[in-house]
Formats: sequence, C-alpha cells, structure tokens
Amino acid sequence: MRVYNFSAGPAMLPEDVLKKAAEEMLEYGSSGQSVMEMSHRSKEYQAIIDACEASLREVMNIPDNYKVLFLQGGASMQFAMIPMNLMVKGKADFVVTGQWATKAYKEAQKFGTANAVASSKDKTFSYIPQLDESKYADYFHICLNNTIYGTKFSKLPETGNVPLVADMSSCILSEPIDVSKFGLIYAGAQKNMGPAGLTVVIIRDDLVREFPEDSKVPTMLQYKTHVDNGSMFNTPPTYAIYILRLVLEWIKGKGGLQAMKELNEKKAKIIYDFLDGSKMFNATVQGEDRSLMNIPFVTGNDELDAKFVAEAKKNGLVNIKGHRSVGGMRASVYNAMPIEGCEALVSFMKKFEEENA
Ligand code: PMP
Repeated sequence: MRVYNFSAGPAMLPEDVLKKAAEEMLEYGSSGQSVMEMSHRSKEYQAIIDACEASLREVMNIPDNYKVLFLQGGASMQFAMIPMNLMVKGKADFVVTGQWATKAYKEAQKFGTANAVASSKDKTFSYIPQLDESKYADYFHICLNNTIYGTKFSKLPETGNVPLVADMSSCILSEPIDVSKFGLIYAGAQKNMGPAGLTVVIIRDDLVREFPEDSKVPTMLQYKTHVDNGSMFNTPPTYAIYILRLVLEWIKGKGGLQAMKELNEKKAKIIYDFLDGSKMFNATVQGEDRSLMNIPFVTGNDELDAKFVAEAKKNGLVNIKGHRSVGGMRASVYNAMPIEGCEALVSFMKKFEEENA
C-alpha cells in the first residue's frame, strides 16, 4: 500500500508518473531498451531531453533569452557555481532566511564579498525580513521558499539592475512565477520535479560568462560549458530528466501552474486552518510568510511530538518529523501530495488531539 509521504525531499512523485515510468521501464517506445540504458547521444534520448526542455519552457513560460540547463551536484553545487560565474566585480548580496540561504551565503564568501543585507535568524528564521534596496552588487541571492522553516517570499525584493538569483528547490513548479524578474533560478529536482540527481538552472543569456582559456575555474563549473553543449558536455542524469519530462506532462494535464497554485493553496489551507484552530498544535510561521509547500508545526512538548510522529506513521502518514533545528513536525505537501493526503493528516491530528487532550 502506498503511504502519504510528507518528506521534505526526495518526496512523493505523482502516481500517474510512476505508472507511466513503470509501463515504459522495460522498453521505451520501440527502442528495445529502457531509458536508463540509452546512450545520451542517441536520437531517442535527444528527443527526450529536447521534449523536457520544451515542456519546462512552456509550463514556466521561460523567455527565449534564458538558457535551461540540466546539471548535477544538487542545489548545493550551485552555492559555489553561482559566485564562480556571476561574481565579476566580486560582490553579492544575500538575504539570510534559513540554513540553505546561509550555506549559499557562506559558500559565496570563498569567492568574494558576500553581504548579508537582511536576516531572520533572531527568531529561528520564522519570518521573511524586510529588505532595504539592493546595493551595488553582481547579484542578489534569495531562497524563495525555505524548506526547513516553512517560510516563503510573498513579494520579490526590488533589486533594480542587480540580477535576482533564487534558490527555488522547494517551490519550483508549485505556482506561476515571472521568470523575467530573475537573472538565475536554480533547483534540485527531488521535491517538485523528479528524482534526486538532477539540478535545473535557468539563466539569462547575458549572465553566461565567457572565461579565458587559462581560467582556473573548472570546465564543469562554467555555465558556458553546459550552454555550449546542450547540457551534454558529459553524461547528464538521463533518467531523472526523463522523469521530469513526465512530471511536466502531468502538470500540463492538470491545467499548468495556475491550477497547481490553486490546488496547493487549497491543500495548505486545510492544514493551516486546522492548526490555527487547534489547542494542541501550533504553526511556527504566521501570516503572509507561510509556505505552501512546507508546513512546520509543534505541540511544545517533545514527548507528545514523538508520540504523534510514531502514531502518524502507523496510520500511513510518514516522514512527518520536523527538522532538528525547529523540532516538532513538518508536513511537506509538494505538487504530488494529493488533497486526500492533507485531509487524512488533519483528521488524524484531530483524533490525536482528542485522545491526548
Ligand atoms: N536549497 C533548498 C531550499 C533545499 O531545500 C535544499 C535541500 N533540501 C538544498 C538547497 C540542497 O539541495 P541539494 O541536496 O540538492 O544539494
């Protein structure tokens, strides 16, 4: 029996996608082989990666002056690749809204001056800080949705001519975004896009820097290398790209990102409404900073939290333990979590509250 998996990532994939992948596992089309076994240089595979890029461009409405790259190394590799490629003058601004944003900020310090323009560390990253206008910098980095703390930017910072760079690992494809407002977008695939092992980068043409021949920046870490080679400088994560393509087709079939947003708002509301009315459980984030994807909540009692997590698991609601830095619980409800999963969680919380009051 399949469970409702509230993991922060790797996370649930749409059942229809898994079924389609299972159907095509032994033989993709009439190729006589599975996608995993195909040469990345084959005609069949080229058609898959091309269709994946075309679908991503369609679903996210990506303007023509942006390149789409299918890379590896996780979002964590981007913490280094971004400053290596974008810090031309040697200075970048960061909004420190959680652990991942902090990692991006710290990694950039290896390559130049990283300036923390705002932080919400004073209250365990439970809100999005107010920002001053961006200063003179090569780029301005935000983590749009903070997976661990359950906050998201409801409004984008004004950065003028400074390119806005966003880690969208835990919110990409969850709602429409205006790509043209960003210089670079990156995301690990393992939450809303597909299996781990794939990292998607969407980069505006003018930010793809040309390095001199004798540059010390490794070839694999230059965006230009991947732009020039259609993400095939080396072997790309072929199967993960194939699954992303299926996920994108699934999103299109559901009505695209506007429909995803409406569904995600409905799902999150079911959980937040219950938390706001509960005497036992409390959401750790308030108001417009609340994430649609990651919903942390606590009882304030570690023993009760542990009991909840254990009993939830017995009821088919798994991976709901919160991150150790927040404690309590966290329900990650990415696109693939059906509304029934959110309803099942709330009815279990109600029952637990009654039984343990
Ligand atoms: N950024 C965010 C917002 C994340 O949630 C995560 C992973 N959970 C990362 C970065 C790191 O991603 P990866 O494991 O792909 O390096």
